[in-house]
Amino acid sequence: MPSNTEFDWSIARRRRFGVWRYRELLPLHNDIEPVTLCEGGTPLIKISRAMNGNVFVKFEGANPTGSFKDRGMTVGITIAKSLGVEGVIVASTGNTAASAAAYAARAGLQCIVVLPRGGVAKGKLAQALLHGAKIVEVDGVFDDALEEVFTEVVINGKRNLYPLNSYNPWRLEGQKTLAFEIVDELREPPDYVFVPVGNAGNISAIWKGFKELYNYGLIRKLPKMVGVQAEGAAPLAKTWTLKSRTLIPIERPMTIASAIRIGRPVNWLKALKAVEESSGVFITVSDDEIVNSMRDLAVYEGVGVEPASAASLAGYRKALEIGIIDKGDVAVLVATGHALKDPDTITKYFSRGD
Ligand SMILES: *Cc1c(COP(=O)(O)O)cnc(C)c1O
Repeated sequence: MPSNTEFDWSIARRRRFGVWRYRELLPLHNDIEPVTLCEGGTPLIKISRAMNGNVFVKFEGANPTGSFKDRGMTVGITIAKSLGVEGVIVASTGNTAASAAAYAARAGLQCIVVLPRGGVAKGKLAQALLHGAKIVEVDGVFDDALEEVFTEVVINGKRNLYPLNSYNPWRLEGQKTLAFEIVDELREPPDYVFVPVGNAGNISAIWKGFKELYNYGLIRKLPKMVGVQAEGAAPLAKTWTLKSRTLIPIERPMTIASAIRIGRPVNWLKALKAVEESSGVFITVSDDEIVNSMRDLAVYEGVGVEPASAASLAGYRKALEIGIIDKGDVAVLVATGHALKDPDTITKYFSRGD
């Protein structure tokens, strides 16, 4: 990594100061004080019983609010604070709300979260309440909630509110550090990275991270990016398969995995490019496959993830099955959020030890 005398790397390294450890690779002025909860620096866990092969799980549930959203939120809220706004506003399937609420609290900013009524897992809603966010519920799905944020900020001109959805480039800047950590730990990029895809910010951000390392000459090859979507909420997989140059939206996205229940992903073009440039692929998995993968990670590996996160293992299994990848290939599965986020799904599907 390039050196920079103004930032004390030794302290950052010692404290596993995840995202901000890579400050030199974030386009922020050095005078800006980060709003941080020491996010990032999450475990990369080799799995063996749920799946043998060269498979690692990047356990993002170990972030301060329990999902990878914290990587982006630390940067987004840092920017919001430096701009001097009164508050932030986000539409969310839940984890963005939980994360925004916590980081806004830390920064002393108001937080408004717009949620699809009935579409948010209980743990996430509880976090938003706990951290004092103002909750606005809209009828419909995530896409309708996002529309509401656009209306508030752009049409009603609430300029004292800073929008922090994943079309906000600063969040993606923070999220790209996931790629840096993988390379730091494996010493080189894996062959494949499996990412559950909803609004498609994360897969775009992770790809950006790898590309930057490559462009700086710090790595010599790039991984292939595999975007995994749930069968009932797979606008990108569909767009990809039909080779359409415009997004084919899904009007009523349906899946048990609420974090990826999105029909019109805002980052669709970036995500298509990430997959195309990396010679990767989009694949779909069923809700049953998601639940089975969630169970296997939990009972064979001790890794508790929420349903959306289990899509990456389900996707890996499918990729093996249809012959896209080999057992010998090194794969990283991004486990995006913690099991505690969605207790209702666990009690519904995993009762009585079945
Ligand atoms: C947000 C989220 C996703 C989807 O990420 P995108 O950047 O929207 O594609 C997947 N899993 C979990 C747990 C999430 O919170």
